[in-house]
Amino acid sequence: MSGTLTIVGTPIGNLGDLSPRAVEALEAADFIAAEDTRVTLGLLNHFGIKKPLVSYYEHNKRGRGEQLCARIEAGENCVLVSDAGMPAISDPGEDLVAQCAARGIRVVAVPGPTAMATALALSGLPTGRFTFEGFLSMNKKSRREHLLSLRDERRTMVFYEAPHKLPATLRDLLDVLGDRRVALARELTKVHEEVIRTTLAEAAARYADGGARGEFVLVIEGAPEAETEEAVTVEEAAALALALAEEENLSPSEAAKRVAAETGLKKSEIYHAMNQKG
Ligand code: SAM
Repeated sequence: MSGTLTIVGTPIGNLGDLSPRAVEALEAADFIAAEDTRVTLGLLNHFGIKKPLVSYYEHNKRGRGEQLCARIEAGENCVLVSDAGMPAISDPGEDLVAQCAARGIRVVAVPGPTAMATALALSGLPTGRFTFEGFLSMNKKSRREHLLSLRDERRTMVFYEAPHKLPATLRDLLDVLGDRRVALARELTKVHEEVIRTTLAEAAARYADGGARGEFVLVIEGAPEAETEEAVTVEEAAALALALAEEENLSPSEAAKRVAAETGLKKSEIYHAMNQKG
């Protein structure tokens, strides 16, 4: 009988966040697939768990995924963990889950912390609707395309970023999205946890010379509702034109022409309505 793939969320900083169910799942596994076996060994040692570890990371995930699926199909139970947080969220694991699902292998989760939801909840920005954008590409073209696609995004946006790339990312975000409210959530669940609620312009200035330490999640306010110009009725335009004619001593025809240019209404309609009023 085929085994199961269990994806287990691990702490994003504070070991106290490893749930009792996560410990049980790790203890029950036949083997553990880990993004970095040294990081996971540290976690297992802390909890006194001994299990065979197999690496599963970005650069070996293709071939390794096949091997893991074959072992699970042969009856072994595999737990998948990443370095921190929920596997498959901006982590290798996404492909393994898809591979298992495609092969009909049972996949279950022991949910744990994830930096994106933690940062969003702490941001003070609207959480009702949001988009998770992960990491911005370092490739100039795809980075620009990604940012441009978000210019009119109304939902709150969540990004991951490494500290050394933060200054450039804040600059690019400001450049494309304009100044907005942003929450920079850093070192979540750790000793130096901090949420800086500010604006993109202030954040870009603050980190312009580097100085960003630790891990960051950026939570950015969505685009404001587009200001729709109130449609002006012909009667209102006629009243405006009459007032303008009087104020500036214009002929009715000239006043109608100017108001037509401003409102987009037809000059003849405004002129006609002016005659009816006057
Ligand atoms: N799978 C993880 C999760 O569920 O959050 C995310 C892994 S991704 C490779 C690493 C990124 O997550 C970091 O660059 C940072 O943006 C964010 N992150 C992870 N831990 C964090 C923490 N303690 N505080 C702030 N951001 C964190």
